[in-house]
Amino acid sequence: MTQAKALIIPVTPFQQNSTLLWCEATKRAVAIDPGGDLADIERAITQANVAVDKIWLTHGHVDHVAGAAALKARLQVPIEGPHRDDLFLLEHVVESARNFGMQDAANVTPDRWLEDGDQVEVGELTFDVLHCPGHSPGSVAYFNPAERLAIVGDVLFAGSVGRTDLPGGDRRRLFRSIRDKLLPLGDDVAIISGHGPTTTIGRERAANPFLQQTAVASR
Ligand SMILES: [Zn+2]
Ligand SMILES: [Zn+2]
Repeated sequence: MTQAKALIIPVTPFQQNSTLLWCEATKRAVAIDPGGDLADIERAITQANVAVDKIWLTHGHVDHVAGAAALKARLQVPIEGPHRDDLFLLEHVVESARNFGMQDAANVTPDRWLEDGDQVEVGELTFDVLHCPGHSPGSVAYFNPAERLAIVGDVLFAGSVGRTDLPGGDRRRLFRSIRDKLLPLGDDVAIISGHGPTTTIGRERAANPFLQQTAVASR
């Protein structure tokens, strides 16, 4: 990573990795998955001394999106993503948050839905949008080829993969997304997941037990 910088802020009782990502050349930033604990996210913005232009969402689960509407109102910036297939989740954020005892949640209406092959920008950085259904139907990953960096939400974790037992989850689609969209990005690509430590495509291809079992890694 050279021009892309990131600060990871674990938020909500789910320790979701809300990520402040910015272009070092321009100090323009995007707040990814502001699931809650907005004071912590705003502290990171101040600390990094950047200006947030956008909010990006990887998917519609409550721990990733519950604070998005409030942050949008505070910063006056648009929300981009996820894919429209997560609309049913974004329309029920309040209900879902209540079930988990989370405060201050609001339903989300993205300003821009994303499709596979779209591109999104922050400062001078351009990220490709990869539609990666399976964990949720509308999950997307953001990939910057030059920086060798991908933000993958809950599709792939260090040593694990996203759960598929929630509404709209589909195990076969998840493994197809990982095999066809993420693994081909290249072993040197760093990934920021929705939970847990950062890792690389290569490390997961070699050692992630879920990928070994299903022979996903050996294409
Ligand atoms: Zn999720
Ligand atoms: Zn999550």
